[in-house]
Amino acid sequence: MSRLRRGAVAELVWLLESMKKIKFSKKNEIFLRIDNLKNSIARFGTVIQQDVVSVDNTSYPIYSIHLGARRNDVPAIAFVGGVHGLEVIGTEVILSYLETLCHLIEWDRTTHAQLENLKIIFYPCVNPGGIALEQRSNPRGVDLMRNAPVDSKSVSRFFLPGGHRLSPKLPWYRGKAGEPMEQENQTLFRVIKEELWDAPFSLIIDFHSGFGMKDRIWFPFANTAGPFPRVPEILLLKKLFDQTYPHNIYSFEPQSSQYMTHGDFWDFVFLSHQKEKPDNVMIPLCLELGSWIWIKKNPRQIFNSLGFFNPIVPHRQQRTLRRHILLLDFFIRATHSAHHWRGLSMKERDRLFLEAQALWY
Ligand SMILES: [Zn+2]
Repeated sequence: MSRLRRGAVAELVWLLESMKKIKFSKKNEIFLRIDNLKNSIARFGTVIQQDVVSVDNTSYPIYSIHLGARRNDVPAIAFVGGVHGLEVIGTEVILSYLETLCHLIEWDRTTHAQLENLKIIFYPCVNPGGIALEQRSNPRGVDLMRNAPVDSKSVSRFFLPGGHRLSPKLPWYRGKAGEPMEQENQTLFRVIKEELWDAPFSLIIDFHSGFGMKDRIWFPFANTAGPFPRVPEILLLKKLFDQTYPHNIYSFEPQSSQYMTHGDFWDFVFLSHQKEKPDNVMIPLCLELGSWIWIKKNPRQIFNSLGFFNPIVPHRQQRTLRRHILLLDFFIRATHSAHHWRGLSMKERDRLFLEAQALWY
């Protein structure tokens, strides 16, 4: 065997070994990491176990971690991850950012000042059963991002990724018609209602991966190509970000510009909130990490169930963990200072609406 071939075989063996390790760590260590953080969080926040999900006689907790002000009249931001059990990199980015914030609180007065009038919720693992089983859906085979009571008029019956009710054995299954939302979605919805509903301004960042070469920030809607009522705020947020960080890597777009679905949880949250709290602004965003970049650099990882959605090689994983810190810092600042930038006159709002329509619809 040539030296080159021997090198390639060794590399493949190493890659398979590291994949096995990553699989093990995803299944077991995410919960340990949250447990390990409990003590440092206890000094300036709380860890709350919201619910448990059982798989094969093992119970997996659903945690939310609350930092900063507990009052309901302050702006609030939530980082949500692990809706899809295979997209564990989102959970890891959130936990890594939480660790950074824990250390900042130990010495950084700016962070202290921010947290006096800001609520931050970390909800790193919506679907722990899916992570444990290494599958996208929850343990009952339901895709939690197709499971909310929102029907799209624009999704064809034959487009399965848009959500279907054929069988939980197929991906993108919505659950049975007329049944309540899955336990995981109900738990998340309850936390959002308790913690974010009354905030004058709230931002939700839900982490996903598995689509495209770019890191995208998706805003609603997923059920219709029609414009999102808060699109003036989104455009302002995008302008603030692009002006402040002109060399950033993200593209903002409505989710409907890529594909449409039934049962989108964030469409449901936004529509429910708007109906009940029309004077408060809630903006749910999805950060869709462009996983095809990792596959392009390491095509063999598609042979692994996690390889399609996550960076597998350690240096690429580390790069992903530090890549989004700037964006998450920005979202925290923008939420904390929302009253400075989002006060819009009717005239400004109309002008931004037209500009957003020309840009995105
Ligand atoms: Zn996803």
